[in-house]
Amino acid sequence: MKRLLRALLAFVMLGSLAVVGTVATATTAQADGCYTWNRTLKQGHSGADVTQLQIRVAGYPGYGAELAIDGKFGPATAAAVKRFQQAYGLSADGVAGNQTYSKIYALQDNDCTPAHFTYAEMNRCNSTWSGGSVSAATAKQNALRAMWKLEALRHALGDRPLVTSSGFRSTACNNAAGGAAGSNHLTGRAIDLVGTPTFCQIVKQARYHGFNHILGPGFPGHNDHAHISGQATRRWSAPNCGI
Ligand SMILES: [Zn+2]
Repeated sequence: MKRLLRALLAFVMLGSLAVVGTVATATTAQADGCYTWNRTLKQGHSGADVTQLQIRVAGYPGYGAELAIDGKFGPATAAAVKRFQQAYGLSADGVAGNQTYSKIYALQDNDCTPAHFTYAEMNRCNSTWSGGSVSAATAKQNALRAMWKLEALRHALGDRPLVTSSGFRSTACNNAAGGAAGSNHLTGRAIDLVGTPTFCQIVKQARYHGFNHILGPGFPGHNDHAHISGQATRRWSAPNCGI
Protein backbone atom coordinates (compact mmCIF):
# COMPACT_ATOMS: atom_id res chain seq x y z
CA MET A 1 0.00 0.00 0.00
CA LYS A 2 2.79 2.36 0.94
CA ARG A 3 4.60 1.49 -2.26
CA LEU A 4 1.47 2.09 -4.29
CA LEU A 5 0.99 5.46 -2.62
CA ARG A 6 4.58 6.40 -3.37
CA ALA A 7 4.16 5.37 -6.98
CA LEU A 8 0.93 7.33 -7.22
CA LEU A 9 2.61 10.38 -5.71
CA ALA A 10 5.51 10.10 -8.16
CA PHE A 11 3.02 9.86 -11.01
CA VAL A 12 1.19 12.97 -9.85
CA MET A 13 4.48 14.88 -9.49
CA LEU A 14 5.58 13.83 -12.97
CA GLY A 15 2.25 14.98 -14.25
CA SER A 16 2.56 18.42 -12.74
CA LEU A 17 6.12 18.72 -14.03
CA ALA A 18 4.90 17.92 -17.50
CA VAL A 19 2.20 20.58 -17.19
CA VAL A 20 4.74 23.17 -16.04
CA GLY A 21 6.96 22.25 -19.00
CA THR A 22 4.11 22.62 -21.44
CA VAL A 23 3.14 26.03 -20.13
CA ALA A 24 6.75 27.26 -20.30
CA THR A 25 7.02 26.17 -23.93
CA ALA A 26 3.82 27.93 -24.86
CA THR A 27 4.73 31.27 -23.35
CA THR A 28 8.52 31.50 -23.70
CA ALA A 29 10.29 31.60 -27.05
CA GLN A 30 13.23 29.23 -27.17
CA ALA A 31 16.80 30.49 -27.11
CA ASP A 32 18.21 30.53 -30.60
CA GLY A 33 21.59 29.68 -32.08
CA CYS A 34 21.79 32.95 -33.99
CA TYR A 35 20.13 35.60 -31.86
CA THR A 36 17.65 35.65 -29.00
CA TRP A 37 15.32 38.55 -28.28
CA ASN A 38 14.76 39.27 -24.60
CA ARG A 39 11.85 41.71 -24.72
CA THR A 40 8.69 42.44 -26.60
CA LEU A 41 9.32 45.19 -29.15
CA LYS A 42 6.84 47.78 -30.29
CA GLN A 43 6.64 51.33 -31.59
CA GLY A 44 8.83 53.72 -29.62
CA HIS A 45 11.52 51.17 -28.81
CA SER A 46 15.05 51.47 -30.10
CA GLY A 47 18.23 49.48 -29.83
CA ALA A 48 20.29 46.69 -31.29
CA ASP A 49 17.42 44.24 -30.82
CA VAL A 50 15.24 46.47 -33.01
CA THR A 51 17.95 46.43 -35.68
CA GLN A 52 18.01 42.63 -35.57
CA LEU A 53 14.24 42.54 -35.91
CA GLN A 54 14.26 45.00 -38.81
CA ILE A 55 16.71 42.81 -40.72
CA ARG A 56 14.30 39.84 -40.37
CA VAL A 57 11.19 41.75 -41.49
CA ALA A 58 12.82 43.94 -44.16
CA GLY A 59 11.20 41.78 -46.81
CA TYR A 60 7.80 43.16 -45.77
CA PRO A 61 8.03 46.95 -46.31
CA GLY A 62 5.02 47.15 -48.64
CA TYR A 63 4.92 47.94 -52.35
CA GLY A 64 7.81 50.03 -53.64
CA ALA A 65 9.33 50.64 -50.23
CA GLU A 66 12.52 49.71 -48.44
CA LEU A 67 12.58 49.45 -44.66
CA ALA A 68 15.28 51.53 -42.96
CA ILE A 69 17.49 49.32 -40.78
CA ASP A 70 18.12 52.03 -38.20
CA GLY A 71 17.38 50.47 -34.83
CA LYS A 72 14.30 52.67 -34.34
CA PHE A 73 10.91 50.99 -34.16
CA GLY A 74 8.59 53.45 -35.90
CA PRO A 75 5.36 53.05 -37.92
CA ALA A 76 7.17 51.52 -40.93
CA THR A 77 8.70 48.81 -38.76
CA ALA A 78 5.35 48.13 -37.11
CA ALA A 79 3.73 47.79 -40.54
CA ALA A 80 6.51 45.42 -41.66
CA VAL A 81 6.10 43.28 -38.54
CA LYS A 82 2.37 43.18 -39.21
CA ARG A 83 2.86 42.03 -42.81
CA PHE A 84 5.34 39.39 -41.64
CA GLN A 85 2.81 38.15 -39.10
CA GLN A 86 0.05 38.06 -41.73
CA ALA A 87 2.30 36.20 -44.17
CA TYR A 88 2.79 33.42 -41.64
CA GLY A 89 -0.73 33.31 -40.25
CA LEU A 90 0.12 34.82 -36.86
CA SER A 91 -2.16 37.28 -35.11
CA ALA A 92 -1.12 40.54 -36.74
CA ASP A 93 -0.70 43.39 -34.27
CA GLY A 94 2.64 44.88 -35.36
CA VAL A 95 4.14 44.04 -31.97
CA ALA A 96 7.04 41.59 -31.89
CA GLY A 97 6.59 39.13 -29.04
CA ASN A 98 7.20 35.45 -28.47
CA GLN A 99 4.94 34.31 -31.29
CA THR A 100 6.83 36.43 -33.81
CA TYR A 101 10.24 35.50 -32.39
CA SER A 102 9.38 31.80 -32.48
CA LYS A 103 8.55 32.11 -36.17
CA ILE A 104 11.82 33.93 -36.83
CA TYR A 105 13.77 31.29 -34.86
CA ALA A 106 12.12 28.59 -36.92
CA LEU A 107 13.10 30.43 -40.10
CA GLN A 108 16.73 31.14 -39.32
CA ASP A 109 19.85 29.05 -39.28
CA ASN A 110 22.54 29.31 -36.62
CA ASP A 111 24.64 31.56 -38.86
CA CYS A 112 21.66 33.95 -38.98
CA THR A 113 20.83 33.29 -42.63
CA PRO A 114 17.20 32.47 -43.41
CA ALA A 115 16.34 28.81 -43.81
CA HIS A 116 16.35 28.67 -47.60
CA PHE A 117 19.45 30.71 -48.47
CA THR A 118 23.16 30.48 -47.67
CA TYR A 119 26.16 32.78 -47.72
CA ALA A 120 27.76 30.41 -50.23
CA GLU A 121 25.09 30.99 -52.87
CA MET A 122 25.33 34.75 -52.30
CA ASN A 123 29.03 34.75 -53.06
CA ARG A 124 30.37 32.65 -55.91
CA CYS A 125 33.24 35.12 -56.37
CA ASN A 126 35.59 34.60 -53.42
CA SER A 127 35.45 33.35 -49.84
CA THR A 128 36.53 36.61 -48.22
CA TRP A 129 33.85 39.09 -49.41
CA SER A 130 36.70 41.47 -50.24
CA GLY A 131 37.47 43.43 -53.40
CA GLY A 132 34.05 45.01 -53.87
CA SER A 133 33.13 48.65 -53.42
CA VAL A 134 32.51 48.32 -49.64
CA SER A 135 34.37 46.57 -46.82
CA ALA A 136 34.17 42.79 -46.66
CA ALA A 137 32.14 42.99 -43.42
CA THR A 138 29.64 45.37 -45.01
CA ALA A 139 29.33 43.25 -48.14
CA LYS A 140 28.59 40.16 -46.06
CA GLN A 141 26.07 42.06 -43.91
CA ASN A 142 24.39 43.43 -47.05
CA ALA A 143 24.13 39.89 -48.41
CA LEU A 144 22.51 38.72 -45.17
CA ARG A 145 19.94 41.52 -45.41
CA ALA A 146 19.29 40.65 -49.04
CA MET A 147 18.70 37.01 -48.08
CA TRP A 148 15.95 37.91 -45.61
CA LYS A 149 14.21 39.84 -48.38
CA LEU A 150 14.66 36.84 -50.64
CA GLU A 151 13.07 34.62 -47.99
CA ALA A 152 10.01 36.90 -48.02
CA LEU A 153 9.91 36.86 -51.83
CA ARG A 154 10.21 33.06 -51.85
CA HIS A 155 7.38 32.71 -49.34
CA ALA A 156 5.15 35.07 -51.34
CA LEU A 157 5.79 33.08 -54.52
CA GLY A 158 4.35 29.98 -52.90
CA ASP A 159 7.45 28.68 -51.09
CA ARG A 160 8.97 27.60 -54.37
CA PRO A 161 12.78 27.42 -54.43
CA LEU A 162 14.55 30.45 -55.87
CA VAL A 163 17.80 29.81 -57.71
CA THR A 164 20.56 32.40 -57.45
CA SER A 165 23.22 32.65 -60.13
CA SER A 166 25.14 35.59 -58.73
CA GLY A 167 25.37 37.77 -55.64
CA PHE A 168 28.40 39.59 -54.27
CA ARG A 169 31.18 40.31 -56.78
CA SER A 170 34.64 41.79 -56.37
CA THR A 171 35.58 44.30 -59.07
CA ALA A 172 37.47 41.54 -60.86
CA CYS A 173 34.50 39.16 -60.72
CA ASN A 174 32.14 41.93 -61.83
CA ASN A 175 34.33 42.79 -64.81
CA ALA A 176 34.57 39.10 -65.74
CA ALA A 177 30.76 38.82 -65.58
CA GLY A 178 30.34 41.92 -67.73
CA GLY A 179 28.62 43.70 -64.86
CA ALA A 180 27.96 47.44 -64.96
CA ALA A 181 30.45 49.78 -63.33
CA GLY A 182 29.13 50.71 -59.90
CA SER A 183 26.90 47.62 -59.87
CA ASN A 184 25.08 46.73 -56.67
CA HIS A 185 26.77 43.34 -56.94
CA LEU A 186 29.92 45.13 -55.71
CA THR A 187 28.14 45.93 -52.42
CA GLY A 188 26.64 42.49 -51.78
CA ARG A 189 23.10 43.80 -52.13
CA ALA A 190 22.26 42.50 -55.60
CA ILE A 191 21.07 39.04 -56.50
CA ASP A 192 20.57 37.46 -59.90
CA LEU A 193 17.89 34.77 -60.11
CA VAL A 194 17.46 32.11 -62.77
CA GLY A 195 15.21 29.08 -63.21
CA THR A 196 11.67 29.16 -61.88
CA PRO A 197 9.33 30.95 -61.14
CA THR A 198 9.37 32.96 -64.38
CA PHE A 199 11.48 36.10 -64.45
CA CYS A 200 8.33 38.21 -64.79
CA GLN A 201 6.74 36.56 -61.74
CA ILE A 202 9.93 37.24 -59.79
CA VAL A 203 10.40 40.88 -60.80
CA LYS A 204 6.74 41.75 -60.31
CA GLN A 205 6.58 40.21 -56.85
CA ALA A 206 9.98 41.63 -55.86
CA ARG A 207 8.42 45.12 -55.90
CA TYR A 208 6.67 44.22 -52.62
CA HIS A 209 9.73 42.93 -50.78
CA GLY A 210 12.22 45.75 -50.45
CA PHE A 211 13.99 45.76 -53.78
CA ASN A 212 14.34 49.27 -55.19
CA HIS A 213 16.50 48.06 -58.05
CA ILE A 214 14.86 45.54 -60.35
CA LEU A 215 15.98 44.67 -63.87
CA GLY A 216 14.45 41.91 -65.97
CA PRO A 217 13.27 40.78 -69.39
CA GLY A 218 13.40 43.52 -71.99
CA PHE A 219 16.12 45.44 -70.20
CA PRO A 220 19.41 45.04 -72.10
CA GLY A 221 21.36 42.00 -70.90
CA HIS A 222 18.56 40.79 -68.62
CA ASN A 223 16.54 38.37 -70.71
CA ASP A 224 18.20 35.37 -69.06
CA HIS A 225 17.93 36.36 -65.40
CA ALA A 226 16.16 38.64 -62.96
CA HIS A 227 18.34 41.16 -61.14
CA ILE A 228 16.99 42.43 -57.81
CA SER A 229 18.72 44.63 -55.27
CA GLY A 230 18.25 47.12 -52.52
CA GLN A 231 19.32 50.68 -53.24
CA ALA A 232 18.39 54.19 -52.12
CA THR A 233 16.36 55.32 -55.13
CA ARG A 234 13.93 53.24 -57.13
CA ARG A 235 14.88 52.03 -60.56
CA TRP A 236 12.72 49.29 -62.03
CA SER A 237 12.92 48.15 -65.64
CA ALA A 238 11.59 44.94 -67.13
CA PRO A 239 9.66 46.16 -70.21
CA ASN A 240 8.65 42.67 -71.32
CA CYS A 241 6.89 42.24 -67.96
CA GLY A 242 5.17 45.60 -68.12
CA ILE A 243 7.55 47.21 -65.63
ZN1 LIG B 1 22.66 41.41 -61.51
